[in-house]
Amino acid sequence: MKAAKRVLFAGLFHETNTFVEGVTPLEAFAVARGAGLLECTGDSSPMGGALAAAREFGWEVVPAIDMRAMPSGMVSDLTFEVFWEAFRGAALEGLAAGVDAVFLVLHGAMVTESHRDVEGELLARIRALPGLGQVPVFGVFDLHANFTQRMAENSNCLVAYRCNPHTDARASAVRAVGLLERALLTGEVPQTVWCHPPVLWPPTGTGTADEPMRALLAHARALEAQQPEFWCVNVVGGFSFADTAEAGVSFTVCTSGPREGASEALSLLGQLAWENRERGNVCEAPAAQVLREALEYPSGGLTVVAEPSDNIGGGAPGDGTGLLRAFLALEVPNAAVAIADSAAVGQVHDWVQKRGGVGVGNGSSGGLVVSIGGKGSSLDEGPVELAVQVVSISDGRFELADKQSHLASVCGDHFEMGRCAVVRCKNLTVLLTSRPTPPMDVAQWTSQGLNPADFSYLGVKAAVAHRGAYEPIAKRMLWAYTPGPCTSLLSSLGFRHVRRPVFPLDLEF
Ligand SMILES: [Zn+2]
Repeated sequence: MKAAKRVLFAGLFHETNTFVEGVTPLEAFAVARGAGLLECTGDSSPMGGALAAAREFGWEVVPAIDMRAMPSGMVSDLTFEVFWEAFRGAALEGLAAGVDAVFLVLHGAMVTESHRDVEGELLARIRALPGLGQVPVFGVFDLHANFTQRMAENSNCLVAYRCNPHTDARASAVRAVGLLERALLTGEVPQTVWCHPPVLWPPTGTGTADEPMRALLAHARALEAQQPEFWCVNVVGGFSFADTAEAGVSFTVCTSGPREGASEALSLLGQLAWENRERGNVCEAPAAQVLREALEYPSGGLTVVAEPSDNIGGGAPGDGTGLLRAFLALEVPNAAVAIADSAAVGQVHDWVQKRGGVGVGNGSSGGLVVSIGGKGSSLDEGPVELAVQVVSISDGRFELADKQSHLASVCGDHFEMGRCAVVRCKNLTVLLTSRPTPPMDVAQWTSQGLNPADFSYLGVKAAVAHRGAYEPIAKRMLWAYTPGPCTSLLSSLGFRHVRRPVFPLDLEF
């Protein structure tokens, strides 16, 4: 029998918002080293899917390290160096018995204090390791990556998700493993060719159900069907809240044919993105205006109002008060919103504890005034003081209702919101969480005894990723402008590193 193929596995996953204040420390990352990495085999995450597929192909997995964290501000240098030391150690040990390939689970938009292109730096370091200079380097990455020339040069075939919301993160990882199996069986190894039109789109413009992403993805699928030497054609929406030289929309072709053919296909995709640049630059009307119009024409069911400027999935703190204030000012009926505020949660838990649980759920307020939100970003107006009734408190752990969701691509099967409290003030229900919880799974609410479909208006802190969870239960989906670090109005952010000129920051090219 032929010896099993030995594949070195590692994961490094962080979407870095360089416009969010503060440095993300090592402690923010879930770290699985060596054999610990194998524990997620088969779960809903991309790594879980990739490991399950590797097992089916009979590979011998050489596990290095997996590090993941929710999107947030600039990552500490220590975090990346801890990753690299563990990777290097596992690689050198693994190389003693031979390594046939490397498989990586990446985000693609990670920034540290010293490296604005972390994935490019990582891939270059891998290539420079004696013994890994020639082996196939494959992997999977997020559609919101800021792909770079360095990433293209130092990898063979990195496969992007094709859906936003990312319902296909795990499936994309499995697809990438399948392509590596093809390389291992045939000995044929593709190269990556990259193109980069001067276009930045806010996350609101990167939904794959809408133009221009829909047409770009269709074009990529057609190219794959027409050109058998193209192993995969990736449409990369980019992450406009990472201020890096190569931030923005890009495309890659992983090909075993000549570079020229790939370059030609890429220039067509780049042209298409450029021609549709305005359509991807999706900005919202102010919250008060959006709500006033919605109240004039009630939908007779749930209206979901997204607040992209406080997009938790984009690294925002999730404690912005813009939409909360608009709900209160307009006395929006039967409304709800989730706010990440561990201090407010602490206030409620202390109050409940002091009273031995009396007063929870019975509608009495007992004079509890909570200072809600407005602490995480200097762009916000600040906390809102609300006299509230306590509906419930909990430990905030929930099992995902949808394990193919965008959220599952990050966390697997469970999510920890940290200690939670549900409070009510007149028409408004507020779910207070200790950790920012991206609104990508309805179990965030049902785990607290609330059915989101029972509300008339629900505020969510997202741009696109909430659609998978809420479109099936909503009568109407709206988007509203509020101040915050994930604003769709890119020209209002202070870019310093992105290449210029770039749309929509510049008018002349
Ligand atoms: Zn993404």
